[in-house]
Amino acid sequence: MTEISTVENFIDGEFMPASRFLDSYDPSVGEVWARIPASGKHEVDLAVAAAKRAFPIWSSKSPSERAKVMNKIADLIEENLDELAKMESKDQGKPVWLARAVDIPRAVHNFRFYASSILHTRNSSTILDVGATNYTMHMPIGVAGLISPWNLPLYLLTFKIAPCIAYGNTCVCKPSEMTSVTSWMIAKLLVKAGLPNGVVNMVFGDGPEAGSAIVEHPDVPLVSFTGGTETGKKIMALASPLCKKLSLELGGKNAALVFDDVDLDEVIPTMVKSGFMNQGEICLCMSRIFVQESIFENFVNKYVNSARNMLVGPPSEASSKLGALISKEHLNKVKGYVALSVEEGGMIHCGEGVDEICLPQKYENGYYMLPTVITGLGPNSRCMQEEIFGPVVCIAPFTTEEDAIEKANSVKFGLSACVWTNDVRRTHHVSQRLQVGTVWVNCWMVRDLNMPFGGMKASGIGREGVNDSIEFFTEAKCICIKY
Ligand code: NAD
Repeated sequence: MTEISTVENFIDGEFMPASRFLDSYDPSVGEVWARIPASGKHEVDLAVAAAKRAFPIWSSKSPSERAKVMNKIADLIEENLDELAKMESKDQGKPVWLARAVDIPRAVHNFRFYASSILHTRNSSTILDVGATNYTMHMPIGVAGLISPWNLPLYLLTFKIAPCIAYGNTCVCKPSEMTSVTSWMIAKLLVKAGLPNGVVNMVFGDGPEAGSAIVEHPDVPLVSFTGGTETGKKIMALASPLCKKLSLELGGKNAALVFDDVDLDEVIPTMVKSGFMNQGEICLCMSRIFVQESIFENFVNKYVNSARNMLVGPPSEASSKLGALISKEHLNKVKGYVALSVEEGGMIHCGEGVDEICLPQKYENGYYMLPTVITGLGPNSRCMQEEIFGPVVCIAPFTTEEDAIEKANSVKFGLSACVWTNDVRRTHHVSQRLQVGTVWVNCWMVRDLNMPFGGMKASGIGREGVNDSIEFFTEAKCICIKY
């Protein structure tokens, strides 16, 4: 019998027991492993009030004082890497090795990067020939609402907290109700790092109650949200009558384009990773692949062989390339798309419905699914158009560069894309015409926080990355002095 943890809200530096709870499941075994507060307006009001009280204190600290605390937070996350990786894996279902290798190091980097960047921020100034000078200041805004999803719990939440507090704001976070335990652990590290009370508050609960109470709160002038496009629309509708600053990082239906000049054996390992890492539950996963028709058959054979070799198993095992999906409902939704693909004329080459999963008895009720590869779908089929957010990749051929670009752009989303080619002219020509916020050429998920990150079209509004975060988390003020 698993011991059940009881998560508490983190408000004004204190852990506050809740009176109402939601169950949180360990996806690897399909059992409840934690109870999280079912918070609502009351808890959000307390957290916003604490963040509002902390704002004048935190915003008046010098950048080097803020950087010192943030570096301490990074050190503590690093020191607790093993425990955090195990917790995040239990919370979300991902393999422990993946949390250790990607999520947690990136969370550490988020704090170190922004701690360092505030020490090097330069304001602009101009001298006018009428005998005046202008200079700009970037002023922190106040209490930010930070709402994050379940798929990369630690990495995405810290990607919001770090720039928010670096520039002098305070915040109320609402992590996903499905992966709250990891955030609760981070709250404990914030206390140890000496972050002043109320600078970061965490209110746990579901979106419609706790999340919307943050978005609608009159003392929260800015909201940074990462999650699904449908939720993003609701948040926009709630926030716009209040004229709030909004950053929306939403869903994707990313395309990889493979041209016939590539060495397939060289590129396929990264391409398969880009389809199935984290069970395909990364907004940046390449769920559509368009392949030049001359190499289509060869590509599909090699890709399917490689996908079939990805072991699905207990997240604690180093050999498991994929762990469990986040929930039973989500697993059923993803499997439903595979069933739909058959109705839409698709052919399943490997995975769901074709191969058998083999799991140790203890894990038989977990939410596992094999990497599934489908061909034969038309560009307008629902499986090619809608975000599935699981281990499902659809592959289709293209004829010319124009055809490839048109197919990649033919969805409502515009988050990211990959281009696989060794042709320099084509690299620029194709990348520049893809309607997405990030294009990776001959690589995937290589990130630099100096660069803008975010989506076009239904994939979002606003960008994250150092310059964009200054724009979002501060208000620029111009001071004009005549002399
Ligand atoms: P979701 O939209 O269901 O939930 C995200 C967060 O919003 C959760 O904390 C949830 O409780 C909260 N929420 C839900 N309804 C709300 C409401 N009415 N008001 C306020 N908050 C509300 O998304 P999810 O299922 O947790 O995450 C998966 C989605 O996130 C996918 O679509 C994925 O593509 C997207 N995502 C995007 C990025 C990106 O950078 N663009 C990164 C990761 C995930």
